[in-house]
Amino acid sequence: MSGSSLLQPDDAEAIILRCVQPFTGQKAADVEQVSLEKACGRILATDIVSQLDFPHWDNSAMDGYAVRFEDVQSCSAEAPAVLEIVEEIPAGYQPQREVGIGQASRILTGAVMPAGADTIVIQEEAQRDGDRVTILSSPKSEAFVRHRAAFYEAGQTLLAAGTMISATEVAVLAAAQCVQIPVFRRPKVAILSTGSELVSPHQPLQPGQIVDSNQYALAALLEEAGAEPICCGIVEDTPEALKKAIAHAASQADMILSSGGVSVGDYDYVDRILAELGATIHVRSVAVKPGKPLTVATLSRSDETGAVLTQASSESESSGSSKSFPVLYFGLPGNPVSAMVSFWRFAQLALQKLSGIPEPWTLKWIQGRSRHDLRSGGQRETYLWGTVQYIDGAYEFSLATGGHSSGNLINLSGMNALAVVPIGKKQVAAGESVRILRVHHG
Ligand code: AMP
Ligand code: MG
Repeated sequence: MSGSSLLQPDDAEAIILRCVQPFTGQKAADVEQVSLEKACGRILATDIVSQLDFPHWDNSAMDGYAVRFEDVQSCSAEAPAVLEIVEEIPAGYQPQREVGIGQASRILTGAVMPAGADTIVIQEEAQRDGDRVTILSSPKSEAFVRHRAAFYEAGQTLLAAGTMISATEVAVLAAAQCVQIPVFRRPKVAILSTGSELVSPHQPLQPGQIVDSNQYALAALLEEAGAEPICCGIVEDTPEALKKAIAHAASQADMILSSGGVSVGDYDYVDRILAELGATIHVRSVAVKPGKPLTVATLSRSDETGAVLTQASSESESSGSSKSFPVLYFGLPGNPVSAMVSFWRFAQLALQKLSGIPEPWTLKWIQGRSRHDLRSGGQRETYLWGTVQYIDGAYEFSLATGGHSSGNLINLSGMNALAVVPIGKKQVAAGESVRILRVHHG
């Protein structure tokens, strides 16, 4: 436990990652089957092994003539080889005739090589006249033949567990006729908005109230990250309400994101309630701005009343063999910008590991140049939001116009990156190199 000391961001990252128990293909409860059509964006839970070779059979890479190399190896325009055409082989057709000495088969791209032939003469190097073909130049032996299993041999690992399935993997799975895909389930992440001043966007706003934007922003970030948000709504700033809400969330989620109530104000109860629920607190504050108060804790999965489940009852609930089911708790700061920056910088990495993605768990860091002066107090790693563009071979960061207060969420709109002023530096001058964290799909 780090007490109340201010952790360096990289140390906090390492501590957080150590707290995460990732999904594994060995635990049936972490795996589900999805159809090929629904597999994009999911993570493979087990290795995929195909019983098909790729290519499935020797085939032609070009339109032309399937020949015996020995018949054409010394031909030229002056001394052409004249061969008898015994068959037409379009793609999808099973050749019926063997190519004998002095013979050829007309063949089209992707079509199966006929027995007897070992080489393709492309049609540009041949002249056809009825059932005869004149070969005008000597090809290389086995030219334009794609050999069976040259790309992949049946029985090998086609795609490894932990692979993120994107369009390219969908193509591979489809070609291998894998139509039911074992993937890790999406992590369930409960979202709690703490604050008695909060009101839902659906309710009329009374004087002094603040609209709960974090619930919606965090749900959207979780969707982007491939997780399943469980929106638990607004929780009043009372110890009783908070305890009940956290216990309820812990009974149904793999991870909990709360916002608000983690600083040192009179109504900041999160750390106290976590302690009462038997949680281990690993992080309390990190040297970042915005986002200094950040509580990261692990607590055991509990039932609705807040009682921690016994080991036996936990085990019977799952087919796995692990002894406890830690729920990872992120107490994010309440300010909308701080909550999002903390998500991008820390919670996102934990989600990657939890989801079953293998190491390294990484953020989209890039190095670029800033168009504007970037200022910081110098004490904490400072994140400034804006847009990054690739211009003339380099990334250029433009600071969002308007106030960079963590309470201002309006100028977050349109941003796709955070520029970082490192600890110990008070300014990154315009034109200087700067580390940039890309966010969203920016
Ligand atoms: P706290 O960390 O609870 O002191 O909250 C810091 C600031 O963020 C306060 O001004 C809160 O009103 C605001 N805030 C807290 N939670 C939310 C939320 N869910 N949506 C929008 N603003 C919030
Ligand atoms: Mg609050």
